[in-house]
Amino acid sequence: MRNTIVAGNWKMNASKDAVKSLVNGILSGMGDVSAEVLVCAPFPYLSQVETLISGSSLMLGAQNLNVNVSGAFTGEVSAEMIKDFGAKHVIVGHSERRSLYGETSEIVAKKTKAAIDSGLTPLLCIGESLDQRESGNTEAVISEQLTTVVRLIGIEAFKNIIIAYEPVWAIGSDHAALVADMVDMHEYIKDTARKLVDVPESKIHILYGGSVNAVNAYTFLREELVDGVLVGGASLKIKEFQGIVDSATDVITAQEL
Ligand code: PEP
Repeated sequence: MRNTIVAGNWKMNASKDAVKSLVNGILSGMGDVSAEVLVCAPFPYLSQVETLISGSSLMLGAQNLNVNVSGAFTGEVSAEMIKDFGAKHVIVGHSERRSLYGETSEIVAKKTKAAIDSGLTPLLCIGESLDQRESGNTEAVISEQLTTVVRLIGIEAFKNIIIAYEPVWAIGSDHAALVADMVDMHEYIKDTARKLVDVPESKIHILYGGSVNAVNAYTFLREELVDGVLVGGASLKIKEFQGIVDSATDVITAQEL
């Protein structure tokens, strides 16, 4: 039975009060959830979330990391520091980091490696912009983003990694991808990975991200090629996030029947 993952990306949205009510709200609705649920918090709130989720099945992730282990890198945060707060996951290559902070595929590959080397599970985001899609370059973009990581890391990349297919035009736009288009891209990502290294299909985990909400989550999650969802805006609203987690539970329950 595959795992179903619901990951929230809070981006740069938090305050101590907001974190407290959001995490407590998520926890109170979780019950015996069988999906893997995690929230990726901004660095200053990792400690607070670590305390709030203690003893629960809710997991913690970060949103970025530096490729170095420690040293003179003012303002940066290493994988070891992230792990120190009980986080198990870290987002790498989010489109906002690629477009706003100049993260190239090479930098993303190094960050992915740093995460894997430290024992964190990277959530490797890949996805095409609207221009790239409209000019027919979607597959070339996805291939370049994925190939750069796999060339650096090799088959080890798939020992502990989650890929998030996030079409950039669907992020924060209220226009999620069509399920059929998403399935095509998940298939393409799997095929590309398998052409690069001899990795069993069961080791390739792919989430969908881009305007997922409580209403549409089920239609993505029920697809066999989808291992879960990465959620931005809706992860900041307790009811929306809860609805997405509930959809994951419904999908898992339906699979068990
Ligand atoms: C994201 O930022 O990773 C994301 C998927 O955002 P949203 O759900 O708001 O589209």
